[in-house]
Amino acid sequence: MDTSTLSFLHEIFQDVQQKQDWKTALDTLFVSLRSSFVFDNVAIYLEDPKTKTLEVAYARAVGRGKTAEAEAVWGEALSHEVITKGKMVVMEPKSDPLHIGRLTSAYLLGFPLYIGSKLNGALVFVRFGGPEYSELHIQIASLQAFWAAALIERRDLQEARAELDSVQRQMRLQDDFVSTISHELRTPLGFIKGYSTSLLRQDTTWDEATQREFLSIIDEEADRLTRLIEDMLESARLQSNTLQFKFSPVRIDALLRDIVVRINTLRPELKISLEIQPLPPIHGDGVRLSQVFDNIFSNAIKYAPGSEIIITVRSIGDKIRVAFADKGEGIPPDYLPFIFERFYRVPGERTVTGTGLGLYICKQIIMAHHGNIWVESVLGEGTTFIIELSVESIL
Ligand code: ADP
Repeated sequence: MDTSTLSFLHEIFQDVQQKQDWKTALDTLFVSLRSSFVFDNVAIYLEDPKTKTLEVAYARAVGRGKTAEAEAVWGEALSHEVITKGKMVVMEPKSDPLHIGRLTSAYLLGFPLYIGSKLNGALVFVRFGGPEYSELHIQIASLQAFWAAALIERRDLQEARAELDSVQRQMRLQDDFVSTISHELRTPLGFIKGYSTSLLRQDTTWDEATQREFLSIIDEEADRLTRLIEDMLESARLQSNTLQFKFSPVRIDALLRDIVVRINTLRPELKISLEIQPLPPIHGDGVRLSQVFDNIFSNAIKYAPGSEIIITVRSIGDKIRVAFADKGEGIPPDYLPFIFERFYRVPGERTVTGTGLGLYICKQIIMAHHGNIWVESVLGEGTTFIIELSVESIL
């Protein structure tokens, strides 16, 4: 091999390696060698680990017969043959292309793909109407097949690493959760125990107003414990897919108005503004949707104390979009991708109690409605939670 060929290959190698996405890397690989090896279409068929059937993992049309790209059925039979034999297969039309039409006379060249030392699929090139593959072409194509297998292996490794990271993060969150939950359980229990012991003391008598004050604290703390236990049970049910939903026509505008009235009665000092357009009903579970709105409200109250809460509800096409905006501290961008995860709480100094379950539960409920929930936040300016539900979501 001469030095110019070597430096040509080296350049391509660098170019391909730099591409993060495996499909873009493959595009670069095939396009950059096209000056030395011409083909019309290329496709990669990989075995689905679950169904054991062959699926098109990558297809690209660069030359004639571009419509063949989408289905990539042209190479399926050959890939089965390549996989059965475990070696390269060349298939050329028996009749003369001039007689059977160029696009139906496919010159196929297939290579087995060994990924992680296992035969996992095949890479097939096609030339419609020829010419035949020369020895040099076969060598270049086999180099590309080898390279493609390495890129797919890299993709598999990247996916496995991302999964591992997510499992590790989940395990860390579970650990944190145990300490959070014991704190969350102890605090209300401490109040309940303290105030009831005080009330039961033989050596002291309390006037009626004090007795009522103590009892109302006990009552509130007992409610807090109940909510906490319900959240835990609910998140477990959501995770095991055993939470039942009762779907019926729901008026989102009425639901939100009720919540705002209820919250304003309990907390008259809160400034809440509600902008609503007339809306059609949606098909949903009203109780669960109220739970989502309640949760986002209580987060705004907890994490953006003193801020106005602005709720806007609009209908956009066949969707209803509800936005809850506060003008609190906001959430640092690094933490935003995780806040809907189970048990996740933004790290930092903690004065506000919580378990990290609320937004996870919200997301699961919205997903059960085939809707979408996301957050937009600017540090120092505020946070907006947006929920989108389909008007016609007949589930
Ligand atoms: P919890 O409130 O129990 O911690 P959530 O799942 O409801 O759990 O919320 C996850 C995290 O998202 C919270 O710990 C908080 O840091 C952050 N967060 C949620 N809502 C807001 C908000 N409106 N402003 C700032 N941070 C928020």
